[in-house]
Amino acid sequence: METYDALLAAIAPTSGETRTILDPATGQPVGQAPVHTVEDLEAAIAAAATAQPGWAVLGHDARSAALLRAADAVERSAEELARLLSREQGKPLNGPNARFEVGACAAWLRVAAATVLEAETVVDDGETRAELHYRPIGVVGAIGPWNWPMMITVWQLAPALRMGNAVVIKPSEYTPLSVLALAHVLNQELPEGLLSVVSGGRDVGEALASHPGIGKIMFTGSTATGKAIIKSSADTVKRLTLELGGNDAGIVLPDADPKAIAEGLFWGAFINTGQTCAALKRLYVHDAIYDAVCEALTSVAAAMPMGNGLDENNVLGPLQNRQQFDIVSRLVEAARDSGARILLGGNPDQDQPGHFYPATIVADIDNSNPLVAEEQFGPALPIIRYSTVDEAVAMANALDVGLGASVWSADPAEARKVAARIEAGTVWINKHGAVDPRVPFGGAKQSGYGLEFGVEGLKALGVPQVING
Ligand code: NAD
Repeated sequence: METYDALLAAIAPTSGETRTILDPATGQPVGQAPVHTVEDLEAAIAAAATAQPGWAVLGHDARSAALLRAADAVERSAEELARLLSREQGKPLNGPNARFEVGACAAWLRVAAATVLEAETVVDDGETRAELHYRPIGVVGAIGPWNWPMMITVWQLAPALRMGNAVVIKPSEYTPLSVLALAHVLNQELPEGLLSVVSGGRDVGEALASHPGIGKIMFTGSTATGKAIIKSSADTVKRLTLELGGNDAGIVLPDADPKAIAEGLFWGAFINTGQTCAALKRLYVHDAIYDAVCEALTSVAAAMPMGNGLDENNVLGPLQNRQQFDIVSRLVEAARDSGARILLGGNPDQDQPGHFYPATIVADIDNSNPLVAEEQFGPALPIIRYSTVDEAVAMANALDVGLGASVWSADPAEARKVAARIEAGTVWINKHGAVDPRVPFGGAKQSGYGLEFGVEGLKALGVPQVING
């Protein structure tokens, strides 16, 4: 275990250009991040390529054992990692936030280690014997966002390492310290050069996506960047897993109990202060219970404390950066100007040092309003009224993204029927956004392609090879 200060010191840059990372709750400095260059990226890829064959030859059992030791290392430093994450990203220590995220890192490492992937005998009829194996790809590039920086990095690196690959990570410019600290802890248990972080900007991301020494890119981020990565990776025909933007719909059927579902709806929408890809972003509620759902949800939301993440009392934090704060402000103001009713929130303090935007609930809003149609990625939830399930399903499916969705009902069998009609990678029943390392996760439409987690997630980090004879 290292103290918080020792962790920061261990990742402090010793040379080259640096950048001060500011706490989004206070505007105070958290630490210095290196500004790595494309030359640094070249060195990291070369070191990864050198380390990878020795790692691949160890085999699944030894690599899984190393991942389990890496999970232990995360658990030993869990509190220090959570504090750094809270200060850099803004999310509170408590609630489904910083401590939860660090816990998820250990959990995903453990499940990636334990998941069984056997060679499959596809045909064995006396004449033909064909087996399907998954071989290491080589060096994998992992490019991530700023909302769940540690957890999403583990989602990318755990299956990659398990399958015998080396990994070069390009974290978001907004949250490099969290990822550098996580990698520092993991590297206590991994061979030198196998896992490294290149903390650069967009130019480094582009160079990683187009580099001939990289066999696959695991990307989580916006749909616009995903499209740029498809283009820059095309010349080297790179494999891609793309977890892109969403704008998840939830449909509340008329038989649901508003009070019973209010807390689930709240966390589905406001987890990580709304800065979550698969969060509930558009809530469609049947006319018969519209007012009751609005009231129940507003009263749950009004009671949730927001503030500095290091205060043990808080469960909502600031937005991570000013750009996101401005996007949410603009969309909520436009909704208000259009005549929508703000039931809770709006009106952030513009002079505060942090980027706090209050939990905001907006009723009587049209489905074409930009607050509904655009990914606002913050703590605002528009609630749209519907009168037939067909109408609700049509509105849910009207966008060109489809990451998650949910259906809320007292009758799960009825909810499943509605779920089957929704164009999304996951449809939850009476919950929203609950990811599980054993259950495949990925997007439909422009929310991306490829699956993470479970055995499907391991297969995505291997090259399929058929041995036929
Ligand atoms: P972003 O696309 O702006 O940035 C993501 C990463 O891509 C950063 O590391 C950035 O430096 C890098 N990058 C930017 N331009 C690049 C380029 N041309 N080539 C290569 N790399 C480049 O996303 P963000 O604002 O950090 O994250 C928020 C977005 O991520 C939202 O749209 C959210 O829905 C999405 N997201 C999706 C999932 C999922 O699982 N589907 C999970 C979390 C976040």
